[in-house]
Amino acid sequence: MLKTSMDQKRRVCVIGAGTAGLCALKNSLEAGLDAVAYERGTEIGGTWIFSEEMPKDEYDEVQSSMYEGLRTNLPKEVMGYPDYSYPEDIDESFITSNQVLEFLRSYAEHFKLKPHIKLQHEVIRVRPRLDDWEVYVWDHSTDTCDPVYYDFVYVCNGHYTEPDIPEVEGLDLFEGKKMHSHLYRKADKFKDESVLIVGAGPSGMDITNHVRVAAKQVLLSHHLPNPPNTAFMGNVTQKPDVQRFTRDGAIFTDGSTESFDHVMFCTGYKYTFPCLSTDVGIQVIDNFVQPLWKHCININHPTMAFVGLPFNVIPTHIFDMQVRFTLKFFTGQREFPSRKEMIAELEQEIGERWGCGVHNHKKAHQMGERQFVYYNELARLAGIENIKPVIHKLMKDCGKKYIFELDTYRSNRYTIVDDDNFLKNGKAIV
Ligand code: FAD
Repeated sequence: MLKTSMDQKRRVCVIGAGTAGLCALKNSLEAGLDAVAYERGTEIGGTWIFSEEMPKDEYDEVQSSMYEGLRTNLPKEVMGYPDYSYPEDIDESFITSNQVLEFLRSYAEHFKLKPHIKLQHEVIRVRPRLDDWEVYVWDHSTDTCDPVYYDFVYVCNGHYTEPDIPEVEGLDLFEGKKMHSHLYRKADKFKDESVLIVGAGPSGMDITNHVRVAAKQVLLSHHLPNPPNTAFMGNVTQKPDVQRFTRDGAIFTDGSTESFDHVMFCTGYKYTFPCLSTDVGIQVIDNFVQPLWKHCININHPTMAFVGLPFNVIPTHIFDMQVRFTLKFFTGQREFPSRKEMIAELEQEIGERWGCGVHNHKKAHQMGERQFVYYNELARLAGIENIKPVIHKLMKDCGKKYIFELDTYRSNRYTIVDDDNFLKNGKAIV
């Protein structure tokens, strides 16, 4: 059994000050640890910062994928932290990115996190030593880089900056414009153009709905078994997968051919951890980050935790649970199972996933309905408070609406009544 003791291990390094990093910082401080969050940007908030910034050259990285006019695809009633909710004077449930950013700032203010956040500080290398972590931090304001030593590391660097573009035959031949949704900012760029959008996940559907207002025509290519609702979008035509691109368009798997000016890939992102040295013992194959216990603890070095890898989840709640869960172990209130036991559990879980027909590394951290079993497990193992039943019920009501009720679902208003019940448009949902 690996034992951790608060007397020996006290300093926490949090990489990133987005929704996950702020939560790791706040809970670490509350647990009595000496925590610092390093944020490479000039402000906190990560994903929720809207900026029209574009890459200056091929080496320049653009941090946020936020676009103009975005409204959240989850209601604010489930996007708050368990111990800090959105203010009641916001009427709408589906809010703007700026309102989320304001909320994160107020969270940092409320829990007095600012003195513990170092902006313009980029973690460029994390390496395990015998008893602790060596973390190299580049201070962009002074252009200096120094090592700092920590007992625990929370990796909260986000997963929406490295585009994942599928390899499709002929893409190099296509002479029109190509982009990934990571760099999509405003619909007016597509004025009077014909656009192919590839992918009908939450971003693909939402961006289709934005772009079609300016564009002449939008083709939405996807392989969802049930077609999304685009009946209200007059100039949107659904297409199957692209078989191959041509000089001026594409041939689709049903044999049809279309011409278009622009292709935008809404095909997701890659999980990357460029600052972790190889001796951290983590490898990523097609977004499967391993070996992790409970999707967050680095089995090779259990003083490192990754927050927010699972997807199809309630992000803020899963971040908060993962952090509270790991802190019970980091502070010695719970003992980790042995390495062998953790590996056996990981293999069993992955075996079950593959056994259910999901033999796809990209889905190794997918949750959906499994997330509630996962929350129960974290709560049981660490003796922490679980998410409230009302959050589960509300999520059930929201599920997949971004596909089937895209035109109407954002007008719904939710109100949480108590730990079990909520109202939808003023009516109780049973
Ligand atoms: P991020 O917000 O990406 O924060 C990571 C931070 O780490 C960044 O500030 C980054 O600068 C910093 N960082 C990275 N590397 C380093 C380093 N080496 N050193 C220092 N700092 C570093 N979720 C919802 O709940 N509802 C929604 O409606 C919703 N809509 C979304 C729409 C879009 C377009 C996108 C892209 C995502 C959306 N999400 C939504 C998901 C959302 O991103 C998560 O809910 C959450 O904000 C992710 O938080 P994070 O802290 O993990 O990552």
